[in-house]
Amino acid sequence: MNIVDSELVLSGFQRLGFLETRSGEDADVLILNTCSVRDHAEHRVFSRIGALRSWKQDRPRRVLAVMGCMAQREAVAIRRRMPHVDLVAGTRDFPKIPELARRIRAGEGPFVVVDGTARPDVVRNPASRPRLYQAYVSIMRGCDRPCTYCIVPTVRGRAVSRPMEEVVWEVRALVEDGVVEVCLLGQTVNAYDGGRRGRVHLGTLIRELESVDGLRRLRFVTNHPQDFNEEIVAAMAESTRLDRFLHMPIQSGSNRILKAMRRGYTVEKYRSTVAAIRQAIPDMQIGCDWIVGYPGEVEADHEASLQVCEEIGFSQSFIFKYSPRPRTNAAELVDDVPEDVKKRRNQELLAVQERVSRDANRQLIGTETDVLIEGRSKLDRDRWSGRDPAHRVVILDDPDLASGMIVRAKIRSATALTLFADLVTERVR
Ligand code: SAH
Ligand code: SF4
Repeated sequence: MNIVDSELVLSGFQRLGFLETRSGEDADVLILNTCSVRDHAEHRVFSRIGALRSWKQDRPRRVLAVMGCMAQREAVAIRRRMPHVDLVAGTRDFPKIPELARRIRAGEGPFVVVDGTARPDVVRNPASRPRLYQAYVSIMRGCDRPCTYCIVPTVRGRAVSRPMEEVVWEVRALVEDGVVEVCLLGQTVNAYDGGRRGRVHLGTLIRELESVDGLRRLRFVTNHPQDFNEEIVAAMAESTRLDRFLHMPIQSGSNRILKAMRRGYTVEKYRSTVAAIRQAIPDMQIGCDWIVGYPGEVEADHEASLQVCEEIGFSQSFIFKYSPRPRTNAAELVDDVPEDVKKRRNQELLAVQERVSRDANRQLIGTETDVLIEGRSKLDRDRWSGRDPAHRVVILDDPDLASGMIVRAKIRSATALTLFADLVTERVR
């Protein structure tokens, strides 16, 4: 979500005639886009801002800006502790950044804008995005859920969906500009209602996007288990471009903890939602988020999470140690699980996930799949890295590939996180 917001800001700067630089050293304007979900993320931002003091002193007309969730939450503290910051812009104010940066360069400022009055989603320049063949499209912002541990509703505000026509227009424009894969974004993306609750839902949008010729892959992130219904699942099953990967966090495998977190479902309910999705789309892979060490989590709760992770057979898990966030309900509770216990639980859950992933990936050896090439492999610049329809990383050796190609490949070997494959046919897009 932060990547797409950064792209939207970049679009705005480009409209004012600014150019993107390769490094901060060359830049006149530097913007930090921030996250507040965990305490650790915020600490890192403060130290990054601190480290940029000399960058600013080198050329005082430079503009240093901070945007995003932490800017929203900590606007005053940022300016007080870090007076070399020229501009702080909240989660719904970032469209104003380019113009304010221009004014700061002309001698005005500093500015702090956290009133949330801009319309964030109508400003995109389809030509400015980091990857030519892929794009994120934000379809709703904010969140109405009451999860006790989460700061997102506080910093991002209430859920607001974009009109469906606008989303379809944007996807069409991106595809006309060469995009083949689109990822729709929202905190509870499957609660999308196009601003017309009851008449439009995510399924309607998925159906509508079928008409966009040239769109080859479609994903949406993040899904809340309570927001799926039969109509959405039916539209997913009918889609000819839907990826085979669905991210649907469970957070815990213990009903007691789910209730304390106010997640709104039980493990049984989650399991039946997964079953319904897999019945409609048998090869759908499910990814997950977990929080370990929520207040009051005892060994039995943790054991339940390990067991559920194994049983559901997730293809991927992001695991987080509980971090108390200011002004959330859970912040009132004692953070009673010691750090070393959180760490151990994190590692144990990760070990289960790795085993599950490794076993599942090994089953794929010898099978063929489509791979969308994303770029050179980070670890080995002579190889190419891409993704299969289930969003698994696939590494190919063939030298003649290029980003954006969709090729047919045969899996040769596999680890928990990566598939290694040989080229079968080069399918030109
Ligand atoms: N809207 C998404 C999640 C957004 S935050 C959803 O509901 O699925 C991304 C992930 O960060 C969450 O799924 C959760 O696992 C984790 N997270 C959120 N708040 C946290 C906290 N206070 N401590 C630790 N992890 C947290
Ligand atoms: Fe946070 Fe829950 Fe909303 Fe996700 S659904 S953003 S975890 S409040």
